[in-house]
Amino acid sequence: MQTLKAEVVAISPLTEFVHKVILKPQQPVSFEAGQYMHLVLSENDKRAFSIASRPSQCDQIELHIGASGTDTYAMQSLEHLRNALNEKQLIEIEAGLGISQLRLQCERPIILLAGGTGFSYAKSMADHLAEISCDRPVLLYWGVREESALYAHREMQVWADSHKNFQFIPVVENPSPDWQGHTGYVHKAVMQDIVSLAPYDIYMAGRFDMIGIVRDDFIAHGAIRENMYADAFAFIK
Ligand SMILES: Cc1cc2nc3c(=O)[nH]c(=O)nc-3n(C[C@H](O)[C@H](O)[C@H](O)COP(=O)(O)OP(=O)(O)OC[C@H]3O[C@@H](n4cnc5c(N)ncnc54)[C@H](O)[C@@H]3O)c2cc1C
Repeated sequence: MQTLKAEVVAISPLTEFVHKVILKPQQPVSFEAGQYMHLVLSENDKRAFSIASRPSQCDQIELHIGASGTDTYAMQSLEHLRNALNEKQLIEIEAGLGISQLRLQCERPIILLAGGTGFSYAKSMADHLAEISCDRPVLLYWGVREESALYAHREMQVWADSHKNFQFIPVVENPSPDWQGHTGYVHKAVMQDIVSLAPYDIYMAGRFDMIGIVRDDFIAHGAIRENMYADAFAFIK
């Protein structure tokens, strides 16, 4: 783990509820694709956010923070970041956290499964895999409640088009009549598309209640527990 001071460079809306935050650490930051960082609000209040940028961007950290009025975890974090931006104060962060980072030592196909802002976790790994021209099959499933939450739809389509072994599958839980893709819960879409999950390495991020359900459903669908990665496992039973 690396404790660093960082400047808040920009905060911009990705959707009505999700904001992109760009941080510039005072020293180059070291992390692996799929790791997260703590935003230190105080000694006893450290908030976890997945790092959306790829490890080679060591002079900058991108975060995607979801914040509706009801989500105090994210709202308070954004307020802390906005104050630092306006007052040109440095913030404290702890980077390189987590045990669910991308494993590159094997040849198994990869599923990146993201619910909502869990996309941040998947994006770092997806961009890193593209950068190293990984030739393993990579399926990125991104589930959101409404189409308007797919803020990186175009970008991920370009990512998928860039490598013949990459696929991007957006899944909308409550679709409009015009939506032509997968619908419902994102992990159900995975189970519809894939007969057995036994061959796959599976990386997951999303709400804690979602991750518990997905873990159990995926194991029933053949997934091997040792090949499933989610930092949420540390927080749930
Ligand atoms: C290590 C760590 C990293 C974190 N990183 C971030 C971060 O980068 N940004 C951030 O804002 N917060 C982060 N958090 C906090 C928290 O995990 C997120 O706020 C949460 O994942 C956001 O979900 P959402 O509201 O965007 O998803 P929602 O919009 O509620 O759901 C999106 C999709 O997830 C699926 N889903 C949701 N609930 C269920 C369910 N019960 N069963 C099956 N599928 C379901 C559905 O497909 C749904 O459409 C992090 C927490 C930890 C511990």
